Amino acid sequence: MNPEQRSTISKKFLFIALISIFLITGCSQSNSEKAYLVTAEPVIDVGNEKEMPTMQSVPTAKPMFTPTPTVLPTPTEIPIPTISIGYMGFSGERPTGLVVSECSPLTIYDKDVEGVQEHIDRYDEMCRAAANDGVTFEVRSAFRNYYDQLDYYTSERFGPSVALHPDESMHVAGMATDLTANSRSWTHEIVGCYDEEANYFTYLEEPIAHLAYAEKVRNGEVSGLCEQSVTVVPIKRSMLFGLTPGCTLLKDPEWWGDPEVIECSSGTLKPNGMVREDWHFENADLISAFIAE
Ligand SMILES: [Zn+2]
Repeated sequence: MNPEQRSTISKKFLFIALISIFLITGCSQSNSEKAYLVTAEPVIDVGNEKEMPTMQSVPTAKPMFTPTPTVLPTPTEIPIPTISIGYMGFSGERPTGLVVSECSPLTIYDKDVEGVQEHIDRYDEMCRAAANDGVTFEVRSAFRNYYDQLDYYTSERFGPSVALHPDESMHVAGMATDLTANSRSWTHEIVGCYDEEANYFTYLEEPIAHLAYAEKVRNGEVSGLCEQSVTVVPIKRSMLFGLTPGCTLLKDPEWWGDPEVIECSSGTLKPNGMVREDWHFENADLISAFIAE
């Protein structure tokens, strides 16, 4: 063999060797590609599974349709406007647990203004409404424990004509608050009339100060007042918040339209011999009354 032939042979070997390497490498690559594809297949499957939820997101669009029918019944409930008022004796369960007022946390004697949630919720709502009208509530007394109330009841200063026995007191139940006189005209102002027979509430065109209202009734100047009927109750502003002033007994009330009851002066007595308490506000039954136009 001459050197040229050797060179050709060695070139051929080299060529074959290279081809073999490429083939092997190519195979190993194609194997790895296959392996990659194998692992990639589950990924594609997962992708498909992910696409399935995307298909299930079509039901997500269905709820969009569902509210549309629920919107339809709602307008049918709207037409009759009602109002909650309270002026009758509280007959519900007396809940337990005391909370402090957010609107006026301290009494004028720096004690907590406390009551049960059901009372403080109503009180705070009334207190905030008064604040919006520029009237700041001052609390003399709210929740009283049994023995404090017993002290009031047995004391010479107050006694049974002013303080109830603790078993009867709404203060002990955490459902009464005594205010100072500075908010009296706001809480007692006559704002509307409730017809018990028709279960209708109407607002007066203009609220009328309670003392002026009582005076007009006495003088027979009844235009602009509530109808002078025993089934029609003049509603004081505090009653709109479910809190009734201590102007008459709540469980067996006199007629609220009686000028003496409207006036609510401590100079006159309730049927049980106790003074009328224009400072005292307690939970009363909330009546859902229809509002007349
Ligand atoms: Zn009181």
